[in-house]
Amino acid sequence: MKRYFWSLIQKITELFGRFQSGGAYVLMFHNVCGDNEIPGDKSISVTASAFESFINALIAGDVRFALVSRLSDAASSGAVVITFDDMFLSAYENAVPLLEEKKIPYCVFISDRFIGADGYVSPEQIHKLSQSALCTVGFHSAGHKMLRGLSDDEAKNELVRTRLSGITGKSAEYFAFPYGSLYACGEKKARLAKGLYKYSFSTVSARCSAKLLKKRPYYLPRINVCGDNCSSIQKRLIKQSR
Ligand SMILES: [Zn+2]
Repeated sequence: MKRYFWSLIQKITELFGRFQSGGAYVLMFHNVCGDNEIPGDKSISVTASAFESFINALIAGDVRFALVSRLSDAASSGAVVITFDDMFLSAYENAVPLLEEKKIPYCVFISDRFIGADGYVSPEQIHKLSQSALCTVGFHSAGHKMLRGLSDDEAKNELVRTRLSGITGKSAEYFAFPYGSLYACGEKKARLAKGLYKYSFSTVSARCSAKLLKKRPYYLPRINVCGDNCSSIQKRLIKQSR
């Protein structure tokens, strides 16, 4: 019941967000699978060629890209911030080389739980990412659990206990909540990120306005991009950059 209630509230929030003008577009990718692969979860997958044409179309459409550390500027200019959650090997192999070649900044959110696991990036690959001036390595929790079911202490532990900093040699300044919806995370748990991270991100789909950056930097919206919506998002981004 609670799940439906919070999904409804999220839908209403997102609906109102569609009428909002101004703000950065923080895009969230997960799996960037091979063109002939059948993705396990279509709602978090794009194919490598769809990703490439998406990025090329944005470049041709003069869309600006920003580092997550420049989110405040991006919120005033309507720039795009590209993020990846979980850091599947597919994203490392099929998206990162293109972004590096085109000099487009991006941010990866990595959970301790998946470091070196089958289908995810290895510690060596994470270290390599952290050496790129274009890449920001953010944290995505220790165990990738839904924070809703945890006590405050357990949830806080999820936010701070990390071996990621041991790999990158620096502490992460940005965080993405696992699952990230209003139901999965919620205001109370989201507030735990306050003061721990410069910005932390949800999966509530909306633009990231300057007002939100000021008021709720601990629970900022992001727009999920997958095969089903990438061409409509592409059109929207190009239209607003004109
Ligand atoms: Zn995740």
